[in-house]
Amino acid sequence: PACFLVILFVTRLLTTAGGSKPWSTSLPPKLQTLDFAEKLRADPEAIVSASSDYGNIVHRMPAAVLYPSSTDDMVSLIKFAYDNYSTPLSIAARGRGHSVRGQATAPNGLVVDMMSLRKSKNVTGIRVSKNPSLGSYVDVGGEQLWSDVLHATLEHGLAPVSWTDYLYLSIGGTLSNAGISGQSFRYGPQISNVYEMDVITGKGELVTCSAKKNSELFYAVLGGLGQFGIITRARISLQPAPKRVNWIRMLYSDFSTFTADQERLISVNGRRQSNALDYVEGSLLIGSPNNWRSSFPSSDIPKIMSLVNQHGIIYCLEVVKYYDDHTQHTVDKELQELLKGLSFNAGFAFQRDVSFVQFLERVRREELKLHSQGLWEVRHPWLNLFLPKSRISDFNSGVFRDIVLKRNITTGLVLVYPMNRNKWDERTSAVIPEEDVFYTVGFLHSSGFDGWQAFDDQNREVLDFCDKAGIEIKQYFPHYKTREDWSNHFGSKWSMFQARKARFDPKRMLSPGQMIFQ
Ligand code: FAD
Repeated sequence: PACFLVILFVTRLLTTAGGSKPWSTSLPPKLQTLDFAEKLRADPEAIVSASSDYGNIVHRMPAAVLYPSSTDDMVSLIKFAYDNYSTPLSIAARGRGHSVRGQATAPNGLVVDMMSLRKSKNVTGIRVSKNPSLGSYVDVGGEQLWSDVLHATLEHGLAPVSWTDYLYLSIGGTLSNAGISGQSFRYGPQISNVYEMDVITGKGELVTCSAKKNSELFYAVLGGLGQFGIITRARISLQPAPKRVNWIRMLYSDFSTFTADQERLISVNGRRQSNALDYVEGSLLIGSPNNWRSSFPSSDIPKIMSLVNQHGIIYCLEVVKYYDDHTQHTVDKELQELLKGLSFNAGFAFQRDVSFVQFLERVRREELKLHSQGLWEVRHPWLNLFLPKSRISDFNSGVFRDIVLKRNITTGLVLVYPMNRNKWDERTSAVIPEEDVFYTVGFLHSSGFDGWQAFDDQNREVLDFCDKAGIEIKQYFPHYKTREDWSNHFGSKWSMFQARKARFDPKRMLSPGQMIFQ
């Protein structure tokens, strides 16, 4: 794909009449005279890197890439675009580009490479503070990675409470979606743990917003798919960090027992203030161990494989309890108490004890392994869904058993775990099912360069099944092409979403790669 893009780029270069810069025909010449112009690049390396993403399926070339070194650079760019042009100049902030369907691209527009700010001293960076009303918190630049936030806050003995499974994602990127993981049932998604943000709106205004100040912008931006502004700073809540985690995986051959146990755990522990589980997730064991979320001791693989072969799909419930020096002597007992009455298959519980950092960095280890095998930069036709608890059993029979198992093409993980709706704030732009408890299901397929279409066909089949069966799913990291689909996706929030767009980005310049308004 990189070669393909370079060829496209060279073709465009050759067909661009006259100017010394390849983007001179598609971008306003006046742009080149502005202060930040020297930070704009349109060479193949810059264009190619901003054209694709982790999904490696959608490739769309911007006209140029801005490598800002300050918030002012971004303010000037957006203000210039807003003030000078009746035809909108599209602009996309790009965090780590870990979207899967071109969400951070700007076809023929400008991509703002947020990562370049990480090298700059003129930005927020990561600053831990405390005040009487909020307690401990961290101010973080929108360009920072969650892994950096983890390590910086740990130096103060503190850490955020809500995470994603993988930490090499930007603050701006995850807050534009929701940011979920096994902690969400208890602490809510990452967007439920933000006190305040600085945002550059689509009019080029830098605005501080919170639940009390400019609250409409605050809630619009959280889960707002980058539509209302560029997040340059977020204030995130912190708690004392644990040192270690007790991590248990339990296997189930029966789906309804598995989900009943998951739901009970998130209900009881979601209500507790202390002494609750800290993390509840789940995944499918299907096919070979390469597709499994968890690695198990090699001596246990044969007996697990025989269970998988016998049932086709095995369900893995994963729970974690954090502990520190004060609680190390009681954690085992507490955990036994919390897990009492669970109905996993006897003899199929696996316990590990690792440091807090090892636990949070677990996907990083997988990433490095895949990198070394040349398997990280393949295609990723992912599909992530939220669905109501009342239909999870229909989803198991219609999708996991009738589609996934029968097609037998799954490579990559399949996650399935529930969350409590009351930990999400209805005022944000994020969209979730109406029921009190809903599930997230993630088909995290990875495929070679040629085979991804089969996974996309399977994704289509899953969506068609849900449609026909009347299962009201919501896509997480949504990908739609028509206005009607977007309107259906947002449902009762659609008119609010449109009104927020008209107010904060009236020229519809921001995040064109989502294809909502362009
Ligand atoms: P990008 O892909 O760069 O951008 C995503 C969107 O946000 C774009 O529309 C972009 O314009 C906008 N944007 C980026 N920065 C800003 C900003 N500063 N201000 C405003 N808008 C901005 N998600 C989870 O919730 N939980 C997980 O456990 C999880 N695990 C993942 C594991 C892997 C290996 C990968 C590849 C992704 C995972 N994700 C997960 C998905 C991830 O959260 C989203 O794809 C997220 O958008 C990625 O952040 P990013 O910095 O790469 O954003």
